[in-house]
Amino acid sequence: MTGKVSLLGAGPGNPELLTVLGQRRLKEADVVFFDRLVNPSILALVNATAELVDVGKLPKFHKVRQSKINELLVGYAQAGKQVVRLKAGDPYVFGRGGEEAQILRKAGVPFEVIPGITSAIAGLAAAGIPITHRDFASSFHVITGHHQKDGRQIDWENVAHQEGTLVFLMGMAALDEICAELVSHGKDVQTPVAIIQWATQWRQKQVVGTLGNISQLVRENQLGAPALIVVGDVVKLQRELKPSLPLMGRHLLVPISKTKRLFHALQDQGATADFYPRAQLSPTGIEIPKLTDYQAIAFDSISAFRTFTWQLTQTGQDLRKLVGLTILVPNQMIATHIKALGIIPSVASEYDGKLLELGIDKQLFTNSDFVPLFDAKMGATWFQQTLADFDGIIFPSTASVSDFQSVLSEQQQEEMPKLIVFAMGATVAEAAKLAGFEQVIECPTKTIQTIAKVREVLTNE
Ligand code: SAH
Repeated sequence: MTGKVSLLGAGPGNPELLTVLGQRRLKEADVVFFDRLVNPSILALVNATAELVDVGKLPKFHKVRQSKINELLVGYAQAGKQVVRLKAGDPYVFGRGGEEAQILRKAGVPFEVIPGITSAIAGLAAAGIPITHRDFASSFHVITGHHQKDGRQIDWENVAHQEGTLVFLMGMAALDEICAELVSHGKDVQTPVAIIQWATQWRQKQVVGTLGNISQLVRENQLGAPALIVVGDVVKLQRELKPSLPLMGRHLLVPISKTKRLFHALQDQGATADFYPRAQLSPTGIEIPKLTDYQAIAFDSISAFRTFTWQLTQTGQDLRKLVGLTILVPNQMIATHIKALGIIPSVASEYDGKLLELGIDKQLFTNSDFVPLFDAKMGATWFQQTLADFDGIIFPSTASVSDFQSVLSEQQQEEMPKLIVFAMGATVAEAAKLAGFEQVIECPTKTIQTIAKVREVLTNE
């Protein structure tokens, strides 16, 4: 049976600017082909078993040729796969989505187009520029700044006489020429211009000037592709409307999780959060020994506690089986969770009497009888970011520290010690120091308080 290709728009970068349908398709995909411009954070939404293929093209250096990409899309779909072709912004706004669709139609491969939020509109908003405004522009024009040798040329006479907002994509290499053409065809040299690089992402940078001086400002401020060139009076509004949030421009690593609590809290403060992979647990099926042989029981993780209670209830028993036993956990984080489930444990790292320890795959208490209830396998989340690009990492548990370490490439291992750690609780801070991190900041175990600490440290508030 033939599969299907989804030409999917990833939006301008912020992973929460992806459509709901787009998110679902990423989860369902067998294979995802993504571009250089696609923000890697979005790849964390892909199902762990899916194949991820980077077909990114660096300017002037085509990593994978377009004809090869077409061939791959058709080939995988014909082999019955659910294929996602992930493109920055909207798939039909430049970026050759239309051509890919034509190829698929010709090959008889079923496909769909899932729109994305285009940088050509949303990128302006991220810099405080409404693309239209009753006082300044009653139309907008999205234009490619990239000249094709034998392709269509821009009708400068026409473009320069539009009263609406002009937005150039792929125009940075030709910025001088664009400004010169507009002026020589009659646009006022004082017309406001904004350049917005990496819009909606942590690395967003912008400068504002006029047709007369923008090239120089771009050089002075070292802006480059990918960027939007915005020409028109709406640019004036950015002074008034520029968004401002305390953690804007900050970039942090958080563990991938179902609730995404840390991720959301950071996003709401304007930071960009990227995920690092966590281990996935599969039950070993080992039976829990008789509790009457022990004086104490230790739960190394919340999952261990959950599995324990599940096994009890499966055999018609319940938590009353714990009566008389000392109950231990290795850190405050687990203690808080277990407390919410109705048991107040003691936090400890050792015990003198006969101790049964239920855990994942590592014994934490010396001299215990250790029963591993789970095997931990690392999820296949894409994680190839440069650690130097991050302002910090948040570790909510000791297990997250070891999970993070276990996915690092050689290059990332070298960068690791310099990464600022926000450790949720003293035990986690200790584990991070042991792991080799040089700057470890101990935070409270609650999400809100940890985010407050991140804010304090990164913004000097
Ligand atoms: N389909 C994309 C555009 C692809 S063409 C969309 O709808 O947004 C590539 C060009 O898009 C880049 O050269 C740059 O001009 C622009 N672009 C894409 N994402 C951008 C971003 N986050 N910030 C600024 N410009 C971006």
